[in-house]
Amino acid sequence: MIATDQAAVRPVRTSEAASMMSGSASPVPAGSVPLARLVDAELEVPVLGGRAVRHVNLDVAASAPAFTVVAEQVARVLPYYASVHRGTGYPSQQTTALVEGARATVARHVGARDDDLVVFTRNTTDALNLLASAVPGDTVVLDLEHHANLLPWRDGARRVVVAQPTIAETLDALDAELARCPAALLTVTGASNVTGEVLPIDRLARLAHAHGARIAVDAAQLLPHRRVSLEASDLDYLAFSGHKAYAPFGAGAFVGRADWLDAAPAHLAGGGAVETVRLDRVEWKHGAARHEAGTPNVVGIVAIARALAEFERLGEAARDSHEQALTDRLHAGLGAQRGIRVVHGFEDADDRLGIATIELERGSVGLLAAALGAEHGISVRAGRFCAHPFFDRVAGRANGLRASLGAGSTTDDVDRFLTALAKLVSDGPAHAYDRGPEGWHPLVDDRPRPEFAF
Ligand code: PLP
Repeated sequence: MIATDQAAVRPVRTSEAASMMSGSASPVPAGSVPLARLVDAELEVPVLGGRAVRHVNLDVAASAPAFTVVAEQVARVLPYYASVHRGTGYPSQQTTALVEGARATVARHVGARDDDLVVFTRNTTDALNLLASAVPGDTVVLDLEHHANLLPWRDGARRVVVAQPTIAETLDALDAELARCPAALLTVTGASNVTGEVLPIDRLARLAHAHGARIAVDAAQLLPHRRVSLEASDLDYLAFSGHKAYAPFGAGAFVGRADWLDAAPAHLAGGGAVETVRLDRVEWKHGAARHEAGTPNVVGIVAIARALAEFERLGEAARDSHEQALTDRLHAGLGAQRGIRVVHGFEDADDRLGIATIELERGSVGLLAAALGAEHGISVRAGRFCAHPFFDRVAGRANGLRASLGAGSTTDDVDRFLTALAKLVSDGPAHAYDRGPEGWHPLVDDRPRPEFAF
């Protein structure tokens, strides 16, 4: 159910309530309460043996629950939902205004220049595939990329540079590659989805431009956790997904320079992307509409705009201190845990998001992840995180376990994870598990399905 009480935006925990009642002015320690209210704040999940526990969601790097204000906004606009750009009725006009207003919100939030385009896409993967069809030359990528920023680039026009042990050496390797042979585009992730390490996008932009290349940033991980600005960082393109930014309604965005996009084939061919159509000739539109044929995902677009407005309301300083406190706590706890190793890409990374991937010295991370979910109500992810080349290079084992946190996370979440991890690493799971095509699962699973399941 969607809460509508604005006062409930930031839930008050016992410790906070106590200090409020005692009149003590001591501030709440960073990370001890959620930074923002998410729709899963009160979610309880069943665990094996018939109990239910508060869910701990440490899988937000994969997909984050909606901000409550996003879900409320979606519910508020749904009655007005109607056709975009074509209808003459009042709801249709309001729907069109919402989509175009969202476009302006995205442009403002990511520091787009006046002549940049904001194209609404399905997600980051879709956005980077659009860019791949528009690049008029070679693309240089690092091997640490998510598959979404590794696979779309045209065969024969993609040049992969292996990231080095330090960020400084990696910049040198990119510099050498761009000097060796000109490229049209350097495309990098803003932060690794495996290690959380943040890349120096301002320096990478200067480097690309010094060699006459443009730069695109895959901000799927970065944007939900750091303010990113095309103008301030001198980036040419930026891609991100709503579902990692607390707006999981199926839309993403691609923002950047118009010229390549205006010269590229329409991303989707169909209605809305054309000026005129004759059976022997088509005149394609310029601008975002060229790549947005068909009816857009209005709900997803509205959700993105509302989430970005919420980031602005929360403020960068609050987000940074909340997530930094939790990230430090997570890494300190993992550093003290025996029997595991934390995966790193760089020796000199001085900034990382709230993501940690671990390997087990012995045993299966898949089994560990299954037991965290089934016995402790804690969601994490096991695997190679759609970054196979990078994972295979930096990890010693076939798979890792990733914990990732965000605006809804708390120190209590981190502590529950660390406690459960320590117990499982030392004692193993309390129940029997089997391994099927979908991975590890309890041999006997007595957890009831929710009443909405069908
Ligand atoms: N880039 C990075 C760094 C990611 O972590 C992900 C998803 O995990 C993607 C791209 C792909 O995002 P999407 O599935 O929303 O297209």
